[in-house]
Amino acid sequence: MTNVIIIGDGPGGLSCALFLAKKGIATTVFGQEKTAMHYAELHNYLGIPKVSGSDFMAVARQQVTDFGAKLANALVTEVTQTDDGFTVTTEDGATHTAKYVVLAEGKGVKLNQSLGLSKEGRSVEVDRNGRTAVSGLYTVGRSTKMNRSQAIISAGEGASAALDILSTEAGKDVLDYDSPPKE
Ligand SMILES: Cc1cc2nc3c(=O)[nH]c(=O)nc-3n(C[C@H](O)[C@H](O)[C@H](O)COP(=O)(O)OP(=O)(O)OC[C@H]3O[C@@H](n4cnc5c(N)ncnc54)[C@H](O)[C@@H]3O)c2cc1C
Repeated sequence: MTNVIIIGDGPGGLSCALFLAKKGIATTVFGQEKTAMHYAELHNYLGIPKVSGSDFMAVARQQVTDFGAKLANALVTEVTQTDDGFTVTTEDGATHTAKYVVLAEGKGVKLNQSLGLSKEGRSVEVDRNGRTAVSGLYTVGRSTKMNRSQAIISAGEGASAALDILSTEAGKDVLDYDSPPKE
C-alpha cells in the first residue's frame, strides 16, 4: 500500500496531509507543534477575516486527523533514499519507511541540507508541484521561499504536492472536488 511521510506540521505539511488522507493514502505527519503559526494572527488568509495562528492550527490538526492522517509527535533526524522509497529516522532511533516523503520543515532546512537540496540554509529549488531533484521527495512551504513565506502559500504548495503524488499513483491527473448535496 502506498504511504507518505510528511515532515513538518505547519500549514504546508498539514495541507498536504489533508489532500492525501482524504483520498485514502496512508499518511503520517511528523512534527512537534512548533510551527511559526503560533506567533501569527492572520488577517490575510482568503475566506477567514481574522484568526489567531494557534486557533487556525488547532482546526487544521483536527481536520487532518478526521480524514485519517496520523500526527506523530517526534523530531525526524534523518531521511535516506532506498531502492523503493525512503527510510525516515526519528530522534528515538525508530525507523519508518515510505514510498514518498514531503519535507515541510519551515525556516530550518536541516533535512533538505543533509540531502544536498539546500546550500547553507537557503531556499530549496523545486518545480511547480514541489518536486525536488530526488525522485519521490518533495519540499513545500517556507523552505522553498524563505523571505516570502505566507501561510496560504504554504498550504497551497502542500496541496499541490499532494495532487502530484495522487496523480502519479493514478497515472492520470487527479482533482479533489466536492459539491453540496442537491435539494
Ligand atoms: C511573528 C510572525 C507573524 C506571522 N504572521 C503571518 C500572517 O499574518 N500571515 C501569514 O500568512 N503568515 C504569517 N507568518 C508566517 C507563517 O507563520 C508562515 O508562512 C507559515 O507558518 C509557514 O508554514 P510552513 O508549513 O511552510 O512552515 P512552519 O509553519 O514553519 O512549519 C514547519 C514545521 O516543521 C517542523 N519541523 C521542522 N523540522 C522538523 C523535523 N526534522 N522533524 C519534525 N518536525 C520538523 C517545525 O517544528 C514546524 O512545526 C508569521 C510568522 C511569524 C513568525
